[in-house]
Amino acid sequence: MKPALPGVLAINGGSSSIRFTIYEVGSLRPRLHGKIDRIGLPGANLIVTNPTGKSQPACPVPAANHSAAVAFLLKWLESQPIFASIHAVGHRVVHGMKHSHPTRITPGLLAELRRIVPYDPDHLPHEIALIEAFAQRHPKLPQVACFDTAFHRTMPPVAKLLPIPRRYAARGVERYGFHGLSYAYLMEELRRLHPRAAQGRVILAHLGNGASLAAVHRGKSVDTSMGFTPAAGLVMSTRTGDLDPGIVYYLARVEKMSAAKFQQMVNHESGLLGVSGTSSDLRDLLARKKDSHAVAAVDLFCYQARKWIGSFAAALGGLDTLVFSAGIGENSSIIRKRICHDLDFLGIKLDPKRNAKNAPLISTNGSPVKVRVIRTDEEQMIARSVTRLLNLNSIRRPRS
Ligand code: AMP
Repeated sequence: MKPALPGVLAINGGSSSIRFTIYEVGSLRPRLHGKIDRIGLPGANLIVTNPTGKSQPACPVPAANHSAAVAFLLKWLESQPIFASIHAVGHRVVHGMKHSHPTRITPGLLAELRRIVPYDPDHLPHEIALIEAFAQRHPKLPQVACFDTAFHRTMPPVAKLLPIPRRYAARGVERYGFHGLSYAYLMEELRRLHPRAAQGRVILAHLGNGASLAAVHRGKSVDTSMGFTPAAGLVMSTRTGDLDPGIVYYLARVEKMSAAKFQQMVNHESGLLGVSGTSSDLRDLLARKKDSHAVAAVDLFCYQARKWIGSFAAALGGLDTLVFSAGIGENSSIIRKRICHDLDFLGIKLDPKRNAKNAPLISTNGSPVKVRVIRTDEEQMIARSVTRLLNLNSIRRPRS
């Protein structure tokens, strides 16, 4: 059999799902992609997609909890012939505090990640478990942490500072921003396709289940809507986005709500789901045209996204390019139209036909602001980062 080309494995581990892709070093073409879904819920399964994009039938996974899912995934990967070709593993790590670049995982970095768990208790423990599992079974395989916060380390102090007593800033309580792998990928795509635009004033709108916007100037993040945690900013599928801090005391006092219950509500029971009372999925809500709560949830999402665009245009001192991305941003012409409605005063003029087709450029030819749709790919960004950091392109190809 012809030996497989050297590969890099990119892992994007969340609390209820783990996505992975094996890329060929050099071309960074995906060779195998998969996802374990519904971890901790009945009906957890693994769906694998081959390089042609064809999915195999879903395979049930004994994933009563995250560690069972990780153990299953490792065994399954090891049983695949392509696994032997893997030269390195890259992980999406949601929180990296002050780290501004992808970093090779050492015992020291792992200890640091364990120390900063209190800053991101929802994501870091799962990511650490994945890293530890690979380190235990494959100690020689280099692993790299690709931080979602890294892209925003260039934000100026005024965008990082939280208006609470100074002593907390010294303990690392500041605005970090997230979705950095997606933003880094979008900026690389913009630079590749439109190098001059990438040097200008850009707003990136990553609108998926998690949703945020970033203001970018001369290729560097200057502000973003998420903050100390990913719960901040724009209203999301189940997260509140920004909330009046006075609500905390009201709920604690009047409703006797505990901190843990508040955390659960803010992250998992609010946003589009909380407002509509029926669904966190924007497609479902758009279909419920006669349900006033569903309509209100969609209105709120579009209204807030418009406000963030206006606010970031002010932060940037004007705007040259607006990029829509992620599930909603890439696919929903209705939402893009509603967000951009009446933003002519900022120079944003959508072309209805281009918008309806999800075209790469959806603004009119005369629009002062170019509005673009770019498909994001966080796993591809992980693979690129690992390849660059470990200089994997210098690996010699195996002989056939
Ligand atoms: P993501 O987290 O990037 O996978 O995005 C998920 C969100 O994108 C969900 O709210 C979906 O309803 C939404 N979405 C995906 N496709 C469409 C579409 N064609 N129209 C509207 N929303 C969509």
